[in-house]
Amino acid sequence: MSSPTEDRQFKRVILKLSGEALREPGSHDNISPEIVERVAKEIKKAIKSDVEIGVVCGGGNFWRGASASARGMDRATADYVGMLATVMNALALQSALEAEDVTCTVQSAIEMKNVAEPFIRRKANRQLSVGTVVIFAAGTGSPFFSTDTTAALRASEMNADAIMKATMVDGVYCSDPKKNPDAKRYDSVTFADCLSQDLKVMDSTAFTLCQDNDIPIIVFDINGEGNITKALAGDDIGTMIHKG
Ligand code: UDP
Repeated sequence: MSSPTEDRQFKRVILKLSGEALREPGSHDNISPEIVERVAKEIKKAIKSDVEIGVVCGGGNFWRGASASARGMDRATADYVGMLATVMNALALQSALEAEDVTCTVQSAIEMKNVAEPFIRRKANRQLSVGTVVIFAAGTGSPFFSTDTTAALRASEMNADAIMKATMVDGVYCSDPKKNPDAKRYDSVTFADCLSQDLKVMDSTAFTLCQDNDIPIIVFDINGEGNITKALAGDDIGTMIHKG
C-alpha cells in the first residue's frame, strides 16, 4: 500500500471539524471555549504557510438527526435541527478566530441573515482566494446528508486539494483499535483498499464524492497539540486516503 504522502503541499483545503471534537470529554457543555480557542490558534498558525482554508463544522456535539429519528422524530425535521446545531459551532469558531485577528466569515447553507452570510459559491471562492477563512455552516442545507458529505461537496465545488478530517482518532486502522490492540494504522491507503477492506472513513456518499472527484482525505487526531496546524500545512500526519 504505497502512496504519494510526500506531496502534501496543498494550496486550498477544507478542514472538517467534527462537533464532538469541540466538546471537552465528560463535560456538560456542548462547546468548550478553550478547545475552540486552541483550534483557532492552530488555524492562525497554518495561515502563515499560505494555505487557503475552508472549514466545515459538524454538529454532533449537540444533535444528530439519525439518532433523534430512531427515537421517533420525523427524520427531515431532525436533520434540520442538526444543521442548525452546526451553525452554533460555526459562530463559536468565528468568534475565536476573530479574537486571534484572523479574517473569517460564516456562510450558511440555510439563510439566516442576522448571524451569517448566505452560502454563495462564487463569493466563497473569492474569499478563500484572498486568504479569508470561510466557515461553511448548516451542512448542505438539505436533510439526509452529513457534514462529511458537506465537506466533500464544498471541497469539490471550491476546487480544494484535500479534505482534512479532524476526529477523535489518529488515523485509519486495519481494524477497530479499541477492539484489537494490535490493529495497524495506515500512513496512507487508497480509496479502493478502503472499500475492499470495508474501512470506515466517512459515510458512503461523502466517500464516493471524494473518490469520484479525486480529493484526498487526511484523517488525523484533533487532540494532539499542533496537529491541526501540521495537517493544514501539509505535514505528514494521520492517514492519507488517495486515489493511488
Ligand atoms: N445534517 C443534515 N444535512 C447536512 C449536514 C448535516 O441534515 O447536509 C444534519 C444531520 O442530522 C447530522 C447533523 O446535521 O446528524 C450534524 O451533522 P454531523 O452528524 O455530520 O456532525 P458531526 O458528526 O460531524 O459532528
